[in-house]
Amino acid sequence: MSNLRIRDVRTIFTEPDNIRLVIVKIETNEPEIYGVGCATFTQRPTAVFAAVEDYLKPFLIGKDPADIEDIWQSSYVSSYWRNGPVLNNALSGIDQALWDIKGKLAGMPVYDLLGGKARSSAAVYVHANGSEYQEVEDDVRMYMEEGFHHIRVQVVTPGYVTYGNKGSSGESISSKYGPRLGTDRIFEPLSDTLHAHPGGIFEPGPYMKSALGLFEYIRSKVGWDIEILHDVHERIPPIQGIGFAKEVEQYKLYFLEDLFSPEDNDYFRMVRHQTSTPIAMGELYNNPHEVIPMVKDRLIDFLRIHISQIGGITPARKLAALCEAFNVRTAWHGPGDTSPVGHAANLMLDLNTINFGIQEYAIFGDNSKEVFPGCPEVKDGYMWPNGSPGLGIDINEALAAKFPFKDRAYGGAWDTVRRADGSVVKP
Ligand SMILES: [Mg+2]
Repeated sequence: MSNLRIRDVRTIFTEPDNIRLVIVKIETNEPEIYGVGCATFTQRPTAVFAAVEDYLKPFLIGKDPADIEDIWQSSYVSSYWRNGPVLNNALSGIDQALWDIKGKLAGMPVYDLLGGKARSSAAVYVHANGSEYQEVEDDVRMYMEEGFHHIRVQVVTPGYVTYGNKGSSGESISSKYGPRLGTDRIFEPLSDTLHAHPGGIFEPGPYMKSALGLFEYIRSKVGWDIEILHDVHERIPPIQGIGFAKEVEQYKLYFLEDLFSPEDNDYFRMVRHQTSTPIAMGELYNNPHEVIPMVKDRLIDFLRIHISQIGGITPARKLAALCEAFNVRTAWHGPGDTSPVGHAANLMLDLNTINFGIQEYAIFGDNSKEVFPGCPEVKDGYMWPNGSPGLGIDINEALAAKFPFKDRAYGGAWDTVRRADGSVVKP
């Protein structure tokens, strides 16, 4: 038993590149020994703050930071009710910070604590988008020039909002024979206020037509030497999703992401029986018990857990091992609202996990790189570790404080997307 003890647990808010990030810092009775973890739940940051400050902090002060497993298990049941995104993100901040501390004490990067590298670097995918096919192609070619080989492609469906693109709304629905606007519930942005996401109208038919057209266009213009990916973002009714996955097969996607919502998990069984389109799923899962049936029945090809959403490295490494037994690959969620600390945590697992598939990468902004010294570096389409002990990343708190949270309409809520008749669509 060491004499090291948790002295303080602090929650840091910062928004260096217009995304609200939440970082947990655990300090010990040895002033130079501390760790950082990602607890970012960008739509509900103050709820995570309360979960850490009011509940986990008093529960953890005085404990030995070496006991990661015990701390995770005891914290997990300390609220009796468990497995929600707020509590899991709070626990992830604690968990990742403890792995960071353990690595620093051992003088090893976390991937070495996990058993060592299975690969030198992690292939990443980036996002190409545009308001028309040509713009997406330009984006794709730019990324190819930079050495990226895996590129997710998303295009605006004319007249509708589409996931992965900015700037379109339902107000321009003008098709002569398509759906007409039957709602007055269109999102009206407030002036002088920052929005988390633009709202608008989504219709499955026009979306699927434009997406299939995009794949045809990209394959005919750019060819078959790159890997293309696509995110449906759980927006289409299941039977249409099954048909979509079958039509997509001819374009040989690296994977099709979030074809259904977690509530429709069982529809993946039907997709599996009808097409070999590779399926990626999981960024909305909170609970390992949502994952188990998908893996054991081999209903998915890539598990896309958002690591802070399920409670940190401790549960994620167990799920990676579960996936290994069934030869399901990992593709941890890595959007802009995973902090650079969270990306560093993803990378630790990517390097250690033999059944790693691909890492999503949101290109870090310049401010983020300065606020988070040790930000993982990407070159030629691969993310590389810096070899430093722990997670290999830190937060410059003085600089982070220069990027406080900005005011946002609706508390920064993810906006409400609707069908043309006004009914809500999953985001
Ligand atoms: Mg996604």
